[in-house]
Amino acid sequence: MNIILLGAPGAGKGTQGKNLSERFGIPQISTGDILRANVRNKTQLGLQAREYMDRGALVPDEIVVGMVVDRIKEDDARNGSILDGFPRNIAQARALEATLDSLGKKIDAVIGMEVDRKELVRRLSGRRVCRKCGASYHVIFNPPVNIGMCDSCGSDIYQRDDDKEETI
Ligand SMILES: [Zn+2]
Repeated sequence: MNIILLGAPGAGKGTQGKNLSERFGIPQISTGDILRANVRNKTQLGLQAREYMDRGALVPDEIVVGMVVDRIKEDDARNGSILDGFPRNIAQARALEATLDSLGKKIDAVIGMEVDRKELVRRLSGRRVCRKCGASYHVIFNPPVNIGMCDSCGSDIYQRDDDKEETI
């Protein structure tokens, strides 16, 4: 089963994707995660992506699509996957469709998650992230045991610029 989750940041794609992943026993594929993994592992696509990221530019569709395609072909995705944050535009959607076609697979469901704008701001502006290990928290929904301190490693947690109300 191949499922696509669409929705604004904060709509809950990550959370619901995780639930679906456990329910169906198929991996959740987040473009953000695989992009970071490719960069970290210095794959050819990761190195190309890095050049764009270093200059603050958007990573081009071909590179993102290439990473997603590589990921979909991995063994744990043979029964399908949950795509979270992909495709982001028509070019990516076409490329995805062509790839799945060539693998004899198809999209089974596309779920659009719509959340009221005010609620999105409330969710996103409460996010906090650990400086050291990257664990994420929420001041209301998932606060750390000690205020301002990461449960896993004890480092400071902070609000990313992306999660400040004016950016949102
Ligand atoms: Zn931590």
